[in-house]
Amino acid sequence: MKITLLGTGSPLPDPRRAGPATLVRTDGAILLADCGRGVLMRLTAAGVLPGMLSAVLITHLHSDHITDLNDVITTHWIMSPEGTQLRVFGPPRTQEVVNAILASLAPDLQYRLDHHADLSWTPNVVVTEVAPGDVFTVGSATVTVGATDHRPVEPTVAFRIDDAGKSVVLGGDGVPCASLDQLCLGADAYVQTVIRDDLVRLIPNARIQDILDYHSSVEQAAETATRAGIRTLVLTHYVPSMQPGQEDDWRSRAAAHFAGDIVLGDDLTAVEL
Ligand SMILES: [Zn+2]
Ligand SMILES: [Zn+2]
Repeated sequence: MKITLLGTGSPLPDPRRAGPATLVRTDGAILLADCGRGVLMRLTAAGVLPGMLSAVLITHLHSDHITDLNDVITTHWIMSPEGTQLRVFGPPRTQEVVNAILASLAPDLQYRLDHHADLSWTPNVVVTEVAPGDVFTVGSATVTVGATDHRPVEPTVAFRIDDAGKSVVLGGDGVPCASLDQLCLGADAYVQTVIRDDLVRLIPNARIQDILDYHSSVEQAAETATRAGIRTLVLTHYVPSMQPGQEDDWRSRAAAHFAGDIVLGDDLTAVEL
């Protein structure tokens, strides 16, 4: 199982970091979790084209996690043979979002249908709205859904992927909670959005201060990993953006609460389990 951080940025535009997106490759499945800004550029850099995706997993419907889902849908459509499904799993209202994306693409779909004689079908997006406790299979992978605490954003979910004796939890955004601990229990790896609360508190902006309410700090993510017996902690979605030369500082804050391997870095940082 290989985990690749496609986008390690946040809603704040960053020339070096794409928006939140993580790729999980197993022997029998390729799963994309979230579709932030620039996801297809990074996906291609990782050697995966949209038509190769077994499924897209959406942790929640904050715009930074879905802003390029439209690009995934359109490009998957125009690069795939007729009948190819794009499977999307996400929380309630994911279907509503996909319907709205497709509606926004109506002119584009018409242009392409009119222009290409060999193209006679529209995007085949199959949405499954999931709830905590759901378990489903994608290729050879088993995916388990767990609740996260990203309130006031609700509902939000995390996904645990198990395949061939390896497992990873994609925690998405949120603060520590019992259901996330349970989902993570005994997993090999845990990928978590993190903020540096010490740095965020220095920013004199009320809207920035609000993000402290509903994101794990680096230390909290490390504590979750320790409670759950995780082997590899993967940090992503850095707020504020992790600058060159700051990696050791971020890593040491996690290492103070977690004794396992810690993975963080630029976009396309990858770890093989
Ligand atoms: Zn969020
Ligand atoms: Zn986010």
